[in-house]
Amino acid sequence: MFIDIHTHIDQYEPAELPGLLERARAASVGCVVSAGTTLASSRKCIELARANSSVVAGVGVHPQDLTGELSTEDLNGLDELCHDRRVVAVSEVGLDFQPASPDRAMQARALRAQIDMARRHRLPVIFHMRESIQETLALLRATRAGDLGGAAHYFQGSLRDALEVIDLGFMISLAKPLLRLPELQEVAARLPASKIVLETDAYPQYFKSKRERWTEPKDVPLVASMLAEIRGVGLEEIENVATANSLLMFGERSAVVRSALESGAA
Ligand SMILES: [Zn+2]
Repeated sequence: MFIDIHTHIDQYEPAELPGLLERARAASVGCVVSAGTTLASSRKCIELARANSSVVAGVGVHPQDLTGELSTEDLNGLDELCHDRRVVAVSEVGLDFQPASPDRAMQARALRAQIDMARRHRLPVIFHMRESIQETLALLRATRAGDLGGAAHYFQGSLRDALEVIDLGFMISLAKPLLRLPELQEVAARLPASKIVLETDAYPQYFKSKRERWTEPKDVPLVASMLAEIRGVGLEEIENVATANSLLMFGERSAVVRSALESGAA
């Protein structure tokens, strides 16, 4: 069974979820991590995880969702959510330096505060670094966030970036860009097998006119198949290794992920 370590399935219409999770299960994706992007969405992720045995939750405020300083109230709210046993990561957090993004120093303060929170709860950090690879890695190094484990989500950097991420103590999370980016395929061919995890980052893609073309957790095996082809190994080997790596990454919370997987396999 596969684990989709990063999605935003809380953003789908509730009526979509039973079908989405059924399609995931049919594709051998037994566990889906639903990552929050705000305090409210983190709460929703936990509700989904409580209602669906194959779903577990991440909590965090996404850098693009910061509407001001991450407030003490929000931080306290997130901290409280981390006590829930179905929370397996602090996610989605990070830095996003695309034009028109929130103030960079403010993003960095929010990320640091959420890394401190992850440390209090001994949770791995699954992070976003868009147009900010060097700055994100410097902050992760300065805060020793790698001690907590976690992953660089939706990784699209160079081999050098990947090796730095790994050196810091994190996994490399590969998603569908692997299907179409030759540079990323070259990087993926060279990564240590023990550092690869898989995800879809699935969210409702209203910009795609055909509903059946939206990315869903069921697409994890597509990424795995491409990886198997690139690395010249069998799909089953990728499946086993990526799942084992994910369980290792979730550390103390891996028991919850494992039981979600078992329920997804049933
Ligand atoms: Zn995401």
